[in-house]
Amino acid sequence: MNKDNVLKWLELFAEKIIENKDYLSDLDTAIGDGDHGTNMARGVTEVMKALEDKKPETVTDIFKLTAMTLISKVGGASGPLYGSAFMGMTKTSMTTDDLVEILSSGLADIQKRGKAVSGEKTMIDIWVPVIEALKNGELTAEKIKTFAEATKDLKATKGRASYLGERSIGHIDPGAVSSAYLFETMLEAGVK
Ligand code: ADP
Ligand code: MG
Ligand code: MG
Repeated sequence: MNKDNVLKWLELFAEKIIENKDYLSDLDTAIGDGDHGTNMARGVTEVMKALEDKKPETVTDIFKLTAMTLISKVGGASGPLYGSAFMGMTKTSMTTDDLVEILSSGLADIQKRGKAVSGEKTMIDIWVPVIEALKNGELTAEKIKTFAEATKDLKATKGRASYLGERSIGHIDPGAVSSAYLFETMLEAGVK
């Protein structure tokens, strides 16, 4: 992990979110309030602007600025949750460049904020298997997609989708898909 591939990562992530904004909102219309695509697109657009304005010089400062921007500019659950993820990632990136450790620290902060565990049909259901696969040296874009698809069979017990109870089953979780994009673009950018 270095400044260049992290900036590339965030740029690819922003593009992917913007490209798939309507799809993410459609997924959220089925089990939430239909704004996940617009929330995330606003967030990544503001992140790109902030990075351009402030030009942070280190990976830690890049992640901190990303976190603060997402927390302050995105309404909805996903802003603070992704903000926590990036803030969590700064807590080790100063002392290690081990990707598993950095992502685990991001996951820990998402869970500190959102209190979700595996199987509750949230972005956690991507973070956990992605980190596991990465540990085993077998993370691929194909696998990441499979993890997002697998949220379809789960019943939501956290977030807005939990209001639907059993009726949330049969739909892919929007936050799982945006997190899948995060990890697909991490691989594309060559962050390791
Ligand atoms: P809102 O639900 O406030 O409209 P978004 O639509 O932007 O916010 O984001 C919804 C996504 O946030 C869900 O698809 C889910 O993946 C994620 N999410 C919601 N609550 C939690 C939680 N407690 N922990 C982890 N992720 C969560
Ligand atoms: Mg929503
Ligand atoms: Mg909302």
